[in-house]
Amino acid sequence: AAEWDRFTASTPASGEHNTRAARTLPLGVTSSFQHWDPYPVSVASARGAWLTDVDGRRMLDLSMGFGAMLVGHLNPVVVEHVQRALADTGTLFVTPSPQATEMSERFCERFGLDMIRFTNSGTESLMYAIRAARAYTGRKAVVKIEGGYHGGYDALQVSVKPDLANIGPADAPVPEVPFDVEAGTVHVVPYNDLDRLGAVLREHGRDVAVMVVEPVVENLSIVVPDAGYLAGVRQLCDEHGVVLLFDEVKTGLTAGYAGAAQRLGVKPDLITLAKSIGGGLPLAAFGGTREVMEVVVDGRMAHFGTYNGNPLVMAAAKAVDEICTREALADTEAINVRALSAIDDVIDEYALPAHTVGLGVKGCVTWSTTPVRTYRDYKATDFAMAELSWLWGVNRNILTPPGLDEQWLVSLAHTDDDMGLLVEHVTELARALR
Ligand code: PLP
Repeated sequence: AAEWDRFTASTPASGEHNTRAARTLPLGVTSSFQHWDPYPVSVASARGAWLTDVDGRRMLDLSMGFGAMLVGHLNPVVVEHVQRALADTGTLFVTPSPQATEMSERFCERFGLDMIRFTNSGTESLMYAIRAARAYTGRKAVVKIEGGYHGGYDALQVSVKPDLANIGPADAPVPEVPFDVEAGTVHVVPYNDLDRLGAVLREHGRDVAVMVVEPVVENLSIVVPDAGYLAGVRQLCDEHGVVLLFDEVKTGLTAGYAGAAQRLGVKPDLITLAKSIGGGLPLAAFGGTREVMEVVVDGRMAHFGTYNGNPLVMAAAKAVDEICTREALADTEAINVRALSAIDDVIDEYALPAHTVGLGVKGCVTWSTTPVRTYRDYKATDFAMAELSWLWGVNRNILTPPGLDEQWLVSLAHTDDDMGLLVEHVTELARALR
């Protein structure tokens, strides 16, 4: 309660802004994820690794646009490419363009894809990837992970954050949309559980078009696959003729130069990309093997979108592709590894009931002493401590994502000194808890 008092006392302009915004924007925000009670911090501007809120406070940004701002705010290379597009090229032709073709070639090369189509958000990419899998297989059903978030498309708004008190067995789907348009077509399985997946596919496999999974689950903080899990998923999908879709909206470039699939050595049939590939502009994509993507060529499905691959966003994407070299990402990952190790030391020294998990340039503190392998393990972690740790940071000018289900992102603009502030923050919290 004292930390919430401190929050409202130091953010009066954010409070006033939320009151004004809520008159015309539901909850005063433009995505429900931006909201928290009593009101969220409103940000006026951002540069590099730092935000300035509407109260004029400078905050270290460790949310970085839910992981989209991998290259840092106002990255000079992105700004230069985008300014050139604005000044010389134009922003929207709705025709083929060399810009979109070049980026398709670059992304296919980087991510090991045969073909790719651009969209404007992760949600849209997932929607079209599922349509492609349905067109390819001639089947309708979808298998997803319990607790997995994949955007707002109805077929995936199932068992996203089901209430543990009344969900029953781990494979009972719980729709989270008011009218369950996909009733009966979505099967839910726990992450890291090949037995359950095998059982679902043995029973329903002939109707299943696609298995959708984040290769590393980054909507339950960070949950990593058991050794052999993803290879087992691949094998089961092959046995049952099911398209394997890795949702790399969150992992993508933050997991490594060519995403989590290549880092972990398992090849899906389709991947979805968004967030980190766009440098802060609305860019997303779905792509994969020629065999599956051919459905868009031979008329089994079509993929539309006025803004797809527009030259403004393509300019930002090219900048990101140029900036995110193997070396730049490795250097940034090294900063993250040092921060994770320093936080591990604090956890040990103060015997905090927590552990860290990292992947690439992302990391999190999970408030549990045992590893988290599934959604139900995750829900059993200490959310009161997670909230206190987050709010403690917000009150000391460190913004980690509000959802508690997210993780920090070390961008190309963060330094060891910046991450030292996070380590200091965890240390001070540990001292206060003693
Ligand atoms: N898939 C995953 C794994 C995500 O985390 C998100 C968004 O957070 C989405 C899809 C949806 O992406 P967007 O918000 O761009 O629609």
